[in-house]
Amino acid sequence: MDKNAPALSLPAEPREFGFLVGGQWIAAGDREVFERSSPAHDVPVSKVVKCTPADLDMAVAAAREAFEDGRWSRIPAVERANVLLRVAQIIRRRADEIAYWETLENGKPIAQARSEVDGTAGMFEYAAGAARALHGDAFNNLGDGMFGLVTREPIGVVGLITPWNFPFLILCERVPYILAAGCTIVAKPSEVTSATTLLLGEVLQEAGVPDGVFNVVTGSGSTIGQAMTEHLDIDMVSFTGSTAVGRSCVQAAAGNFKKLGLELGGKNPQIVFADADLEDAADGVAFGIGFNTGQCCVSGSRLIVERSVAQEFEQLVASKFEKIKVGDPLDPATQVGAITTPAQNKTIMDYITKGREQGARVVCGGEQLDFGRGQYIAPTVFGDVTGDMAIARDEIFGPVLSVMPFDTEEEAIAIANDTVYGLAASVWTKNIDKALNVTRRVRAGRFWVNTTLSGGPELPIGGFKQSGWGREAGVYGVEEYTQIKSVHIEIGKRDPWVS
Ligand code: NAD
Repeated sequence: MDKNAPALSLPAEPREFGFLVGGQWIAAGDREVFERSSPAHDVPVSKVVKCTPADLDMAVAAAREAFEDGRWSRIPAVERANVLLRVAQIIRRRADEIAYWETLENGKPIAQARSEVDGTAGMFEYAAGAARALHGDAFNNLGDGMFGLVTREPIGVVGLITPWNFPFLILCERVPYILAAGCTIVAKPSEVTSATTLLLGEVLQEAGVPDGVFNVVTGSGSTIGQAMTEHLDIDMVSFTGSTAVGRSCVQAAAGNFKKLGLELGGKNPQIVFADADLEDAADGVAFGIGFNTGQCCVSGSRLIVERSVAQEFEQLVASKFEKIKVGDPLDPATQVGAITTPAQNKTIMDYITKGREQGARVVCGGEQLDFGRGQYIAPTVFGDVTGDMAIARDEIFGPVLSVMPFDTEEEAIAIANDTVYGLAASVWTKNIDKALNVTRRVRAGRFWVNTTLSGGPELPIGGFKQSGWGREAGVYGVEEYTQIKSVHIEIGKRDPWVS
């Protein structure tokens, strides 16, 4: 996106969205409506329906019917692939519009939203190929009388619960793969960022995804999300969100022992050795925690830096932070936008206060930024952080970096692993032995060497420890939505049991 393009304007009035069941768009009628204000501008931008549990039942029934009659699950994979390829084309065509709604509801910079939306088209293209490549196995080594097959079948109706930090990106890190596997979907976006999930519903319809294969119910987590994880006719729930709610999903899923995919929180280390390219590493560390205002599950919120360069490096990161352009996310030049919800804004500011109270030193930032409207927080670096402080242990989900020095490689690994989470980690060094050793020993599902936050449709996403279960994306992401069947085939006459 051109940084010199003029800033976009706000909608004159909030746009009203319906929800999608069995190919039909349903308006609010006498249901309650949730009005969402732009967190960057404090003006209402969208209205979504507060669906009821009865609406969810209707959507699950539509998804069940679409799954069982085989209109999607049993057609040749090449036909599913062709539809997914059309989805990619339509996303590219509508990218500006999707990015605009993402920014309005989430507060992220428009240029960033646009690049995320562009990236999702590639996910549909990758999944189209994966649909055709998906296969089982054969056992030709069981003797003359027996042949064995292992087949993969779509798991069925999938409930998809997504968070507000990357409403469209996270959705599209799952939907193409679930569809590639042949499943049907009932999606429930976060109540504060539902628009782009509903827009994806329009895109999928236009691409030729049959009615009932992709349904969207909007509403709160405590009613619709909870009812979804408890629902006896949903075969799997893919939940992305906080570890606390993930834990409640595990309990709720017990009714029918549905399979759960859980992508949860993180407190991700960035380990910087003295031999790293410090300029590069400082830029990466600033990006790792500044990007998306630190509201990423994979934000690198703990800087574990070799003591001999700790002070110099802390200053380097702070100088990067001071140059970041924070401001109106509708301005194409903005790099860091608004905090997405007032509750999250309070959480972050409370952690900054706690950091000060517990004895950490503010190197830069540490305060709310006043642009006359919206909620913004200056990217913040805390020095003198010890492992017992709240800012070292808890997922803050904001632009707050905690710096902890180390003396030996062993100590760096121990600090990195001193967390209940295991989502992601980065290591910065020019020494290949250190890079490999750290990569092998730090317990995290995603690892970056001399970079951070990079990714694409090929490599899987998921966490160790309390960061979750299962993997999304890549071929692993398609397999996750299948189940395996073993088939034993007798060849010739059976050896009789009763003679
Ligand atoms: P959240 O857990 O509050 O909500 C996530 C989703 O769950 C929303 O759609 C919400 O409506 C729904 N929900 C709420 N209560 C529910 C319940 N009882 N049962 C079922 N669903 C319920 O999370 P959030 O505040 O939207 O997002 C921030 C969190 O998400 C952070 O902890 C972050 O680390 C995590 N996250 C993880 C990943 C990952 O891939 N690991 C990605 C993004 C965000």
